[in-house]
Amino acid sequence: MVVGDLPREVDLVVIGGGPGGYAAAFRAADLGLETVLVEARGPLGGECLHVGCIPSKALLGLATLITDAAEARAAGLEFAPPKVVLDRLRAWTAGSITKLAQGLTGLARARGVEVIAGHARFADPRTVQVAAEDAPPAILRFQHAIVATGSRPVALPGLDGAPERIWDSAAALALPSLPSRLLVVGGGYIGLELGTVYAALGSEVTVVELTDGLLPGVDRDLVAPLARRLTGLFKQIHLRTKVTAVRETKGGAVVELAGEGAPARLEVEQVLVAVGRRPNTADLGLDRTGIKPDPRGFIPVDAQRRSADPRIYAIGDVAGEPMLAHKAIAEGLVAAEAIAGRPAAFEPQAIPAVVFTDPEVAWAGLTEEAAKARGVAVRTVKIPWSASGRAVAMGRPDGLTKLTFEADTGRLLGIGLVGPHAGELIAEGTLAVEMGALAEDLAGTIHTHPTLSETLGEAAELFLGRPIHLPPPRPGR
Ligand code: FAD
Ligand code: NAD
Repeated sequence: MVVGDLPREVDLVVIGGGPGGYAAAFRAADLGLETVLVEARGPLGGECLHVGCIPSKALLGLATLITDAAEARAAGLEFAPPKVVLDRLRAWTAGSITKLAQGLTGLARARGVEVIAGHARFADPRTVQVAAEDAPPAILRFQHAIVATGSRPVALPGLDGAPERIWDSAAALALPSLPSRLLVVGGGYIGLELGTVYAALGSEVTVVELTDGLLPGVDRDLVAPLARRLTGLFKQIHLRTKVTAVRETKGGAVVELAGEGAPARLEVEQVLVAVGRRPNTADLGLDRTGIKPDPRGFIPVDAQRRSADPRIYAIGDVAGEPMLAHKAIAEGLVAAEAIAGRPAAFEPQAIPAVVFTDPEVAWAGLTEEAAKARGVAVRTVKIPWSASGRAVAMGRPDGLTKLTFEADTGRLLGIGLVGPHAGELIAEGTLAVEMGALAEDLAGTIHTHPTLSETLGEAAELFLGRPIHLPPPRPGR
């Protein structure tokens, strides 16, 4: 440890111990760099482990259990309605988080990565100062630094009339209560995932979304089956609608809405605001370095994730969209390798994305909408899951597998899926896009029967004009 204000020389300081930061620190240490990892919250894992990916997926798993059990009635299996014991739910989720955080601490120790708990700020382009509550400040003079400080929820202006009644995603994941009526503001990833959790646990959920569809930017044919199912699960979904004011009442809040077809006011117990996240670049001393964040607050970086200040790299949410944990990890590995002098660049053909609702929506590579916008000549084929034996046997024929091929070469450029387990199935498509696979490669790959993965092979067969589980193509088509 550093004593008083004597600077200590290190090869690499990583600021932020989320998926991006710990992956970078671990790879750098494995490549022989003396690495210090600074994390303000203490335990490693970042937003993803503590208030993001992991707790939300733990609760979504339980939500699926509840809806699957209720839907088994149609197949002749009847269960009593679940009794929700919030204390035990909280403890169960916290248990998984603690186990995973301890695992990361052990992995850091095993590699000789020193972890310092505290808030890091740049003092100059070669020095980071770490302020900790119960220790003297540490001063680290580095050869290189990686900024991996992540992001935080965007707060909506004008909703300060009822602070107790407003949750962000972290507050909602803490399960403080099970509101009888919950308003979710934002029909994106978080709004739909956490709306699903609360609806399954018994809350009456209403969603308001500013744009004209859920999950803006995702191909509409992938969103449609999810939107249909959510219409049954949620009380209401109001599109083209925004919240203009919130006022606290005795038992909750009165929310004023402005939008087509939406009521002017709604009485709810709680409001979850999920309208996006913004990078953590404030309070980091960036003005003492050569880094100038872009207008949205992201740190501009090159292919190695090097910033405008050549010794300082940036990865993960703070370095730009998409704000996903696996993108942060991949960037962390590239930055660590580049710093260690290895040839490395962040140039993926496909970054998979998954919305873990029921059904799950997943996509990777070029979407149909993006292909159209960029004028890329593509041919898209779709296999409805009603043609999949496995999907029908699961009682879920509402899914869809969609492959987007370069029209003249038959090279796979993108994949989209909606249906249960889409988040697992996307891996094959991501690999295929990354490897430049042709339709023949996918069609010639034997897929296990009966699995949902067969729909990928079948979609490639359809592109080649010879599907088995669909009617034969008409001549000339
Ligand atoms: P973070 O995980 O945000 O970690 C940054 C860390 O830096 C934090 O621990 C913070 O305490 C620390 N820090 C910040 N400033 C300083 C400082 N000055 N000094 C020291 N430490 C500092 N992504 C997925 O891929 N899949 C999912 O299923 C998924 N689900 C999500 C669910 C929710 C509810 C939310 C909110 C997000 C979800 N995400 C998901 C997004 C994912 O959490 C982020 O993309 C990911 O955490 C980004 O990793 P990161 O390393 O860039 O930053
Ligand atoms: P988001 O960008 O996914 O969705 C925000 C939604 O809010 C959009 O649909 C937007 O149109 C809407 N909106 C914006 N302003 C509004 C307003 N005033 N009134 C009503 N609606 C409004 O953002 P998020 O859901 O907050 O999630 C943040 C990020 O975290 C995601 O973009 C994603 O990168 C990450 N995340 C990923 C996962 C996952 O990988 N499964 C899960 C959760 C979060």
